[in-house]
Amino acid sequence: MNPEQTLSTPPLISPAALAERLAGRAKILLMMDYDGTMVPIAPTPDQARPEKKLLGTLARLAQKPEYVLAVLSGRRLEDLLQLLPVPGLYLAGVHGAVVKKPNGSTVPLLKRKDTEKAILALANLARACIGSQQGFLVENKRYALAIHYRLAGAGQAEETLELFLRKSEDLRRQWNLELLQGKKILEVRPQGLHKGSPLLWLKKNFPGHFPVFLGDDTTDEDAFRHNKNGQGVLVSVHPRPSYANLRLKSPSEVQEFLELLAR
Ligand SMILES: [Mg+2]
Repeated sequence: MNPEQTLSTPPLISPAALAERLAGRAKILLMMDYDGTMVPIAPTPDQARPEKKLLGTLARLAQKPEYVLAVLSGRRLEDLLQLLPVPGLYLAGVHGAVVKKPNGSTVPLLKRKDTEKAILALANLARACIGSQQGFLVENKRYALAIHYRLAGAGQAEETLELFLRKSEDLRRQWNLELLQGKKILEVRPQGLHKGSPLLWLKKNFPGHFPVFLGDDTTDEDAFRHNKNGQGVLVSVHPRPSYANLRLKSPSEVQEFLELLAR
């Protein structure tokens, strides 16, 4: 991390003004998070499906010669492929553990290969802590674990997560895994696995392109941090400190921005 970088509160911009800012650029590397950025957060991950219109916009943008389009998500690559059947897209799954190129080939960015064993043990532990309680969803993403608790009661969630944290402490330390608190989601992932890695990989592969990243959550700050020479756009209805330098209000504003670019 560049120690000179500090958090600030990015000012709000309109979709039209943001599109206007990029209009003069000859080549643009446009990278985006998915959940909460391109589509609204849904009660369960399965329900956050893109509308046809958004898929059409992305397809048109990906075909424009001046754009390289990439989605950087905490989701599994298989899920992203199913959600976004758009030709020409780069997809980075599980925070960049693996990147899929438009030609179908994949590039692994995660150095350590044996993380899966630890993640499986943690998934079993999480399920044991949850027991028969409703409202939790344990997602084993092979290189990371996510516990979704949007539908659980607040007190219930706190108690269960505390139990999981206590019981998983040794395992996490032993495997060098870190915790990440997102929007009603607790993630455990290898230290150093974050969205900054696929962002840097893409920037290296498209050196002449102006890098833009849009994201809404804690996990996106790593990408913003590594994109200081480009444009970082926080998607948030309320102002808050971020490494991004501009802010759009909502996924619908992001969609409006994308439609303007795709014209
Ligand atoms: Mg998000």
